[in-house]
Amino acid sequence: MVTGGAGFIGSHLCDRLRDEGFAVTCVDNMLTGSADNLAGLAHDPGFTLEVGDVCEPFDVPGPVGAVLHLASPASPLDYTEHPVETLKAGAHGTLNALELARRKDARFVLVSTSEVYGDPLVHPQVESYWGNVNPVGPRSQYDEAKRFAEALTTAYRTTKGVDTTIVRIFNTYGPRMRANDGRAVPNFITQAQSGRPITVAGDGSQTRSLCYVDDTVAGILAAARSDHPGPINLGNPEEFSVVALARYVRELCGSDSPLVFVDLPADDPRLRRPDITLARTVLGWQPVVDVEKGLKATIDWFAAQRGPRETEEVG
Ligand code: NAD
Ligand code: UDP
Repeated sequence: MVTGGAGFIGSHLCDRLRDEGFAVTCVDNMLTGSADNLAGLAHDPGFTLEVGDVCEPFDVPGPVGAVLHLASPASPLDYTEHPVETLKAGAHGTLNALELARRKDARFVLVSTSEVYGDPLVHPQVESYWGNVNPVGPRSQYDEAKRFAEALTTAYRTTKGVDTTIVRIFNTYGPRMRANDGRAVPNFITQAQSGRPITVAGDGSQTRSLCYVDDTVAGILAAARSDHPGPINLGNPEEFSVVALARYVRELCGSDSPLVFVDLPADDPRLRRPDITLARTVLGWQPVVDVEKGLKATIDWFAAQRGPRETEEVG
């Protein structure tokens, strides 16, 4: 069972699970996902898409080996547009997904986020760090929803005997990100490809560490197969300033788009880089796709979405 399987990461996870021969049911309400992401599985008898809201109790017939819970808006633009839905997905959605895992005696994986560290005062971020989150700030609906989901998952583990783990995903990128989801990678690529100015927030000195989606999916599955309770960081420790990322994407796109500096959103984390010692040690996992290769694959995918005529516009 994959919740949020019609989204960016979830759809790659469904593909990988089918490649490995698992029967997969995905529940998704299409709030930020799309059936297009699952087009490759549309006629696959081993795959079922249930359009539904995880905030309502849900079920599947037969045994379930694992519940992988991803359903939640994830980009800052999306969770700003859908604050209550985001909090409900973290609370009611996580409760219903945990209840399914309890009924089915299934392994449960909460796909959490580096945002639980907020604007971190510890760098790089280790799992033992409790974070620095503004509980009423513009990112609070997402950060606190995920922190609540982690607490709920822990309670189900300790008091209801559910076999749970928590993975904290750091910025993941790749094909199937929505061009208009507002995140840095799709914005920079689509801006560079169309010759429009590239919007760098603040002075661009804030940092992020980018993990290619195939690596993130492999990490989620490694956590599902392990018996570790988490939380476990999953991310690529290679850290970029945002302005360096903008220049790099522009170069890889062969674009001459200018950089423009726009307002830094409130509470935008200054620094972000995962310490992945735990994932390396207990999962034997680490990212294998370097940023150049991953960005090129993503750029090619976005170019294919634009079609040949539009791509000729690039300066
Ligand atoms: P996404 O928006 O592409 O996917 C989320 C999916 O969840 C969408 O298909 C959406 O329709 C679905 N969804 C939302 N609310 C739902 C509900 N109530 N019921 C059923 N489905 C619902 O985002 P993504 O980037 O693929 O993120 C997937 C998960 O990974 C999220 O839980 C997110 O918090 C986590 N994560 C992502 C990143 C990243 O960099 N992409 C980083 C950290 C954590
Ligand atoms: N960002 C930017 N220009 C954009 C979109 C984002 O400079 O067009 C910045 C954003 O302010 C943040 C970083 O890039 O500092 C990563 O933003 P994203 O939304 O991708 O992820 P998150 O903030 O959730 O890590």
